[in-house]
Amino acid sequence: MKGLGSEENSWYLSALRTLRSSCRFYDVHVHPYEILFDRFSYDSDYSNPLLLNLPGKSYTAPSLSRFQFPETAEFNDEPHSQQLRDISVMLLRRVYGSVGEQVIADQMNLSAVDQVLLLPAAPDSSDATPFDNRMRWVKTLYGNQEKFWIAGCIPPSISGEEIRQCAANQQQQYGIKALKCHPVVSGIDLGTTKRKEWLEMMLLACHELKLPLLIHGGRNNPYWGGSRGNFGSIGHLKEINFSLSQHPVILAHAGFHRCSIQEIKQEGLPILKKMLKSHANLYIDVSGIGFEPMKLVLQSVESERIIFGSDALYVPQWEAVTMTMHALKELGMQWEESFVQLASINPKMIIFKDQEPC
Ligand SMILES: [Zn+2]
Repeated sequence: MKGLGSEENSWYLSALRTLRSSCRFYDVHVHPYEILFDRFSYDSDYSNPLLLNLPGKSYTAPSLSRFQFPETAEFNDEPHSQQLRDISVMLLRRVYGSVGEQVIADQMNLSAVDQVLLLPAAPDSSDATPFDNRMRWVKTLYGNQEKFWIAGCIPPSISGEEIRQCAANQQQQYGIKALKCHPVVSGIDLGTTKRKEWLEMMLLACHELKLPLLIHGGRNNPYWGGSRGNFGSIGHLKEINFSLSQHPVILAHAGFHRCSIQEIKQEGLPILKKMLKSHANLYIDVSGIGFEPMKLVLQSVESERIIFGSDALYVPQWEAVTMTMHALKELGMQWEESFVQLASINPKMIIFKDQEPC
């Protein structure tokens, strides 16, 4: 299995710090809390107002270590049993044991990242009010706009006609800079005409409100008894008219979350290329896919359409940074320039625009 040692990680990150003297680095895919199950509630850390901990947990700052690249072979279609799901939640308690400005800022310091886009996601059960509370909580916890921009999300119970108003309210109240749609977490089956139209209403709202849209794309997620496997598959996404908005649409995970390398090669990439050709406003992020799929994507898609994303904290941000740099280097590309394109030039042009120079 491939991976990177501590020294290699430090080497990549110090190269990045040198580049940082002339540009800012961005990450468009960070989750401010555990979005998959959304079951955790936190205690305040009275010694640090920038931090919340799960009961009985204390915060440890991240540090560099050796790590192995995630392999796509580990993914399979088997639905998780209730017991396995409970184990997953327990493991996620470790990943999201603490939240708040301190937690993400420490990741960013370690990874030489200047600004991130935080992506909340409305669970399938969520009505407008509980999710509104969640958005308020996120805004309070991550109020530092120099570091954190926040995306909104439309709860699945909101009708197509109400999407625009819901997004406008979030824009006004929480200053959202984009919308996130997570078909798997929110239980949105894009294979149905009703939900396809619903997403297209969202695109029209994004157009009117000038908001970029980030949409989770991939095939399988085993946590819901395997039942939501195709909700956000690229096969469904290709039927969506993304050109309904003139503002950017970013297909997260390049549309290949938990897809095998064979699927990506044989079916995924040809579809993705067609979609990118049809919709000039469509981009991809390379978060949450394994090393080989990432290389394949970096090789096949023009670099102007690719944005760096980490999927932190599910993946430590610095691991995503060094793995991406390593993939570019292994492909024989001008890896420093290419990383600047993906993590600085493109996100600045596509998402983090209209900012005062700093
Ligand atoms: Zn994600």
